[in-house]
Amino acid sequence: LFITIEGPDGAGKSSLVRRLQKAIQDETDRPLVMTREPGGSDIAEEIREILLNPVHTKMDARTEALLLAAGRRQHVVEKIRPALSRGDIVLCDRFVDSSIAYQGQARGIGVEEVKAINAFAIEGLKPDLTIYLDVEAEVGLSRIRDKNSNRTQDRLELEAITFHEEVRKGYAQLISQEPERFNIIDASQAEEKVFEDTWAVIKERLND
Ligand code: C5P
Repeated sequence: LFITIEGPDGAGKSSLVRRLQKAIQDETDRPLVMTREPGGSDIAEEIREILLNPVHTKMDARTEALLLAAGRRQHVVEKIRPALSRGDIVLCDRFVDSSIAYQGQARGIGVEEVKAINAFAIEGLKPDLTIYLDVEAEVGLSRIRDKNSNRTQDRLELEAITFHEEVRKGYAQLISQEPERFNIIDASQAEEKVFEDTWAVIKERLND
């Protein structure tokens, strides 16, 4: 069972994923592999460092997409596929959908282009279930601000809102193409309620 968690920044993925890990482990004896992207294997984590290093202000959007796909390739081969072959549950924080929403839509490379390089990287691997944490730009970004406890300047703020809205648009398109794979959770709700809604969906799948 391959489950991915997706959503724009500030949706509350990290804390949700921690709670889900405990809930799944309490519910079943099946081994659980928790992992994340960008990253998830040694090589992919090194690529993550490059991707998130703020000194790389010149990084081209296609370079970014290729690095993400390269890391994903290694992550799939080294960790995700072997785990699924053993029959483990895999819970992955972000996967291909993030690249399509962030690089394909928000950074403007094009959804089809990003799908194509990822098809090369993952060779047909698909999540069985994708939890999509939906949150509006204002709410998501204010959570990030609270976390970092500093205020971004107005111009940056405007850019961030536009970018966030484009990311959501990218996800919305993916959801309309594959509605049966996605479960949409209202992530503007309290953390506890977001967890409960998500857990209800995953628990049902575990007991299928
Ligand atoms: O999900 P997480 O917070 O670990 O992601 C780290 C950063 O990488 C976030 O700021 C996210 O916006 C960014 N990211 C991205 N493109 C992706 C995946 C993540 O820009 N495809």
